[in-house]
Amino acid sequence: MQVVLSEAKIRERIKELGRQISAEYKKAGVERLYVVGILRGGFIFLADLVRELEIPVEIDFVWASSYGEGTKTSGTVKIARDLEGDIQGRDVLIVEDIVDTGLTMTKMLEHLQSKNPKSLSICSLLHKPAREIKKVPIRFLGFTIEDQFVVGYGLDYKNLYREYREIVILPPENR
Ligand code: IMP
Repeated sequence: MQVVLSEAKIRERIKELGRQISAEYKKAGVERLYVVGILRGGFIFLADLVRELEIPVEIDFVWASSYGEGTKTSGTVKIARDLEGDIQGRDVLIVEDIVDTGLTMTKMLEHLQSKNPKSLSICSLLHKPAREIKKVPIRFLGFTIEDQFVVGYGLDYKNLYREYREIVILPPENR
């Protein structure tokens, strides 16, 4: 399988992101961050990222589903499970695996904004600008990638391959 991002490269970038995120929030006087992971794809990235942060975090999850089981977005995004906690007045950081068309994140932003957080920012490991339909303000970005369907490090195809340590292109024969 063709490796797009090695385990070492991902690890290194997440360390940098952790430093950048911590520095920016500390500078803004934020003492505790409310981290919202988007399930299911973002769980591995979130687990690694929060351990690189130098400010205390609370962690919560939203379950979004849009893809069904294919490689193309269905266009409709459902919030299948909402947050447990109250984010009103909180500094919220959304952690996502990939922003592709931007439809999922646009929906998520609207949804979370309606709960009146103090601030709301996005951290995405990957961005595929070639397929953008809705422009999303990604404040913290790991990598920009080509228009290829990738799996591993939380990203799936039909709920498989999430456990791979690197991010790879899914060969057509595996679909
Ligand atoms: P968007 O709504 O098109 O931006 O898609 C976001 C969601 O689609 C992500 O959270 C992923 O679950 C999924 N997705 C988009 N591109 C890929 C990919 O290359 N591999 C695996 N999942 C992807």
